[in-house]
Amino acid sequence: MAKRDYYEILGIDRNADQATIKKAYRNLAMQNHPDKNPEDDQAAEKMKSLNEAYAVLCDSRKRGLYDRYGHAGLEGYTPEDIFGGVDFGSLFREFGLGGFGFGFGDSIFEGFFGGRNSTGRGPRRGADLRYDLRVTLEEVAFGAEKTIELSKAEKCLACGGTGAQPDGLVDCRRCRATGQIVMEQRSGHSIIRQITVCEDCRGKGKIVKKACKECKGKGMIRKTKNIAVNIPAGADTGCSIRVEGEGEETDGFPGDLYIVLGVERHSLFERHGNDIYLQKEVSFTTATLGGQVDVPGLDGDLKLNVPEGTQTGAVFRIASEGIPCLDGHGKGDEYVVLKVVTPTNLSPREKAVLRDFETLQQTSGGDNHGEDRKG
Ligand SMILES: [Zn+2]
Ligand SMILES: [Zn+2]
Repeated sequence: MAKRDYYEILGIDRNADQATIKKAYRNLAMQNHPDKNPEDDQAAEKMKSLNEAYAVLCDSRKRGLYDRYGHAGLEGYTPEDIFGGVDFGSLFREFGLGGFGFGFGDSIFEGFFGGRNSTGRGPRRGADLRYDLRVTLEEVAFGAEKTIELSKAEKCLACGGTGAQPDGLVDCRRCRATGQIVMEQRSGHSIIRQITVCEDCRGKGKIVKKACKECKGKGMIRKTKNIAVNIPAGADTGCSIRVEGEGEETDGFPGDLYIVLGVERHSLFERHGNDIYLQKEVSFTTATLGGQVDVPGLDGDLKLNVPEGTQTGAVFRIASEGIPCLDGHGKGDEYVVLKVVTPTNLSPREKAVLRDFETLQQTSGGDNHGEDRKG
């Protein structure tokens, strides 16, 4: 199914200002909010496209790309890039609505950094970790293998995480090794039972008498670990790579590690989605007479034919020399923006030639094809 136009979704003009965009979004969000349409199972989907349209159009950079290239202009953007700029939580509070309908997994970042899993019983999952990794444009253009050094807490191998020497663990007396304290209170005919975690052993049922020498009784050890990361070709800033089981370890399962990419600014190329833009200076004679020039590409120099009579600011597209699509299908293009350089520090002879040229132009009355016709 073709993606709908963002302006159409919000029912606004292409030149609508920010206030109009917000107002249109507010009205539609009020109408379509799933809290107000409990029987409509399409409501969440509608809300999602409204959020997406708003997130793009309220951001001048994303809107600019969308205006120029349509949905293709935002192809390289991850959901975090699209939605990340808008604080939907406070926006919805401003509208007096619940926080539903963030468009992608509700709040992707909340789950990232631990804390979420502490509500359930049983073995706790360790906190997820985030690692910000800077990569170059070349690395995301071709894909790369990188190794990161991560310092994190892991279960102490010497004591298996108990924190005690082999014979150093005794039953907790306070809870009789159950880890729980049960309190009963009689109230009339009923008995109120309250179960709390034993404070002495923190719910473990065992007390450390002789601490493990490796971890000094903590059961955990901070270790530096090298982790290999595969940067996929086509990745962009904000992309996160999940490495299962490399998060913090508590007494149960380890959390995951999220490697969040940040692509460094390139000295020559500017990236828009999967396309790259390059500014290239050409001499005044090449621009006037035409010719072939070398332009840098991601994978070495490329040839560009500059046609006769090219003006400064002219844009040329070199197909499929941009960033590959993340899904492996196709590549973006390279756009070359030409800048014609006016010659300086001319010798007297060069100046004389140019004056002759100027005279010729004036006498031919702008008819500069005279010579061609003669020959
Ligand atoms: Zn230990
Ligand atoms: Zn206890």
